[in-house]
Amino acid sequence: MFLCLALIAFASSASTAESILKNIRISASDTDTRLVLDLSKQTRYKIFTLNRPNRVVIDLYKASKITKLESTHKGKGLISNVRVAKNNPTKLRVVVETRDIVLYQGMTIPASSDQDFRLVIDLKNMYEGSKKIATSSINQSKMVIAIDPGHGGKDPGAAGKNIKEKHLVLKIAKRLVSLINAEENMNAFLTRDDDYFPCPQNKKSCDQKASLNERLDKAKRAGAVLFISIHADAFRDPRVRGATVYALSDAAKIPKDGEWSAMYHVKRYSKAVVQLSGGTANEVTAFDQSLVVGDAVIKELKKVTRMRKLSVRRAAFVVLKSNEIASILIETSYLSNPGDEKFLINPNNQQKIAEAILKGIKHYTAESRKGIVRIN
Ligand SMILES: [Zn+2]
Repeated sequence: MFLCLALIAFASSASTAESILKNIRISASDTDTRLVLDLSKQTRYKIFTLNRPNRVVIDLYKASKITKLESTHKGKGLISNVRVAKNNPTKLRVVVETRDIVLYQGMTIPASSDQDFRLVIDLKNMYEGSKKIATSSINQSKMVIAIDPGHGGKDPGAAGKNIKEKHLVLKIAKRLVSLINAEENMNAFLTRDDDYFPCPQNKKSCDQKASLNERLDKAKRAGAVLFISIHADAFRDPRVRGATVYALSDAAKIPKDGEWSAMYHVKRYSKAVVQLSGGTANEVTAFDQSLVVGDAVIKELKKVTRMRKLSVRRAAFVVLKSNEIASILIETSYLSNPGDEKFLINPNNQQKIAEAILKGIKHYTAESRKGIVRIN
């Protein structure tokens, strides 16, 4: 009888005993940094982020640290330092100060005969363009936007019966620039303001790729955080119609089932459906702000024009390959469809499209600010 009671007491004390943080290990490669917390047993945890300075915070419940473990640890890679403190009697807080805005992911590895329970936090550098546009809307600094009317000069783009793509997109782009410049916190410019083909060093002629790079360079030189390329499509089947928004997704860089989160994210648009190369729509955490902006623009565009696709499409257009500027490409509809062409030629509709794009950007910046974790 006595033995039996003792066993029960032992069992219950074991289940309520605190988890002990025994060690903190940091390893870093060029692009990734890994933080490993060695814990005496399975531990419930929560990860969240704070800004200024950028921090990833890990709360460990029913946990404390082993006495000999230092409270401050020097960082490596993306981590500048790690601090450990008892946040309240039952919670241990690990604060990871990062050198930059990062993507993070937490996972656990169960204990084995020779290793403790491990909580692994992986950090990755965020896409440069995403960082810039996110911080620009958070800091409420003047957002510089490059508007790129596709094609121009020797390159007419798609041809409708009554209008060429290069002329149509310039009209829409000009309207968009004036609308943006009427906003207090935004400033826009055109990558071409007339019917010419932009080339590096003002050369008379160059190939497509050189021209696209020149447009991006122009945007970079002007400090743009967002690049919007405006096009109109054509297709052999005249029945195909509607607008499409493309963005380059960072999704290709991470595993499909990865639970990466962005340090700064937009609550309302926290998920964006992207088309992965496999052809099936997958819901991924939208840490790429190009997708998020694209999503916000679609939400407005669909109110004024017919859409071909209601989600942001991932594409590898050269203009979307910029790693330094968040970029979207809008195919404003099909000039090969008579209905679409008629719609696009009407100046009222060009104005509506420009207004919808501006509204999308404004929603993005407003939501972006709201989504930021409050600084304590
Ligand atoms: Zn085009």
